[in-house]
Amino acid sequence: MIRLESERDEVRRILVDLIRLDTTNPPGNEILAATYLRNLLGRDGIGGEIVESAPGRASFIARLKGDGSRAPLLLMSHLDVVPVERSAWSVDPFAAVEKDGYLYGRGTLDIKNLVAMEAMVMMLLKRKRVPLARDVIFLAEADEEAGGRHGISWLVENHWEKIRAEFAINEGGDTSLSDGRILVACQCAEKGAGWYKIRFKGRGGHASAPHGENPIYRAAEAVRAIRTHTFPARRSPAVESYFRGLVGAGLLPGDLSVDELFDTPPENASAAARAVFSDHWMNAMLRNTITPTALEAGTQPNVIPAHVDLTVDTRRLPGVPRDEMIQALQDLAGREDAELTIIEDSDANSSPLGTELWGAIGTALRNKARSAVLAPYLSTGGTDSGALRARGVVCYGLEPSPAAPGELDRIHSHDERIRIESLWWGTELLFDTVEIVAAG
Ligand SMILES: [Zn+2]
Repeated sequence: MIRLESERDEVRRILVDLIRLDTTNPPGNEILAATYLRNLLGRDGIGGEIVESAPGRASFIARLKGDGSRAPLLLMSHLDVVPVERSAWSVDPFAAVEKDGYLYGRGTLDIKNLVAMEAMVMMLLKRKRVPLARDVIFLAEADEEAGGRHGISWLVENHWEKIRAEFAINEGGDTSLSDGRILVACQCAEKGAGWYKIRFKGRGGHASAPHGENPIYRAAEAVRAIRTHTFPARRSPAVESYFRGLVGAGLLPGDLSVDELFDTPPENASAAARAVFSDHWMNAMLRNTITPTALEAGTQPNVIPAHVDLTVDTRRLPGVPRDEMIQALQDLAGREDAELTIIEDSDANSSPLGTELWGAIGTALRNKARSAVLAPYLSTGGTDSGALRARGVVCYGLEPSPAAPGELDRIHSHDERIRIESLWWGTELLFDTVEIVAAG
């Protein structure tokens, strides 16, 4: 088990440096951070390569060689961050301001913290001359926040041999700290995402002579139907274990029956179950969802439009076929002539539990904090893990720096910040995990 000493300041410093390199996507400009990492790891004698999908859209790949007896382990993350609304921040989002034990800045939680921790783990493996059975590959990619066309998709297509691995650790999970108890929610599955456009056709005309075939009425009825529709909860091993983990860690009331979450409709549920259903993140882990995200209609105040386009975001749990969602959309749209177009649709993806990497995370965690709980986690949103799972890589979202409840709401929002102690704790957990699974 490792305890960071002088490296505490080092990993803090790496994160500070990364925050100060503005890699807001768009445009990304990840070359700034990729160059920084190449120099950083280079100083420890770890050679790496910058690959660019377009000018400035850089990813950085480095590798520590193992003895070749086992397949590689990939430590991945992304370099880009989402834009900021500067006026809503209390500090400069790119200055890496430290206050009350926190480091503030865009990317401190998503996900330059993981970039810094993984880079530190690479340097520690090298400095300590840890004998490795597996190659350990470091990958910090471009363009995660805008779909990965310049990042993971391009890398898988063009540089697969450089990142090919048996196991990968990526973003997507979280570690929560509540009343001194730690729960590591390790992402092992993602819902499938489908974006659809529904066109409601009607009859145009002069607005001074209203008629019932105004398509805005039809669209409004469909939106209302979507709002009041609730898909039934569906069991999946990851979600079931997640809720059992929350109860076990004391993060949900002890009298909550996990079976009830799946078997009892919200209207008949106990107060404890209703509290889970009213948490919109937890609720979305239990069932498929549909969310209206855009509505386009009309041009002039005095003209009835001939059609309305409603865009919806749909999310499907593992095992739910696309046709089932399409059928639900058609039912909710409520009219056979509502025209459905697929913008994009991908199935859910998952990695099995109980693998060697899963075991390593559990062992490292128990060694570090006896009462801590490791639970699988199904994320409602997607990450770059999907592209690797599609190629057979076992990916887990392990974000090992503990955050208090509510802190994670700052992701993609204002005053994003990390507790500096969490950064140290997370680096130690990550190092221990990597050492267990990759050492010879
Ligand atoms: Zn991210």
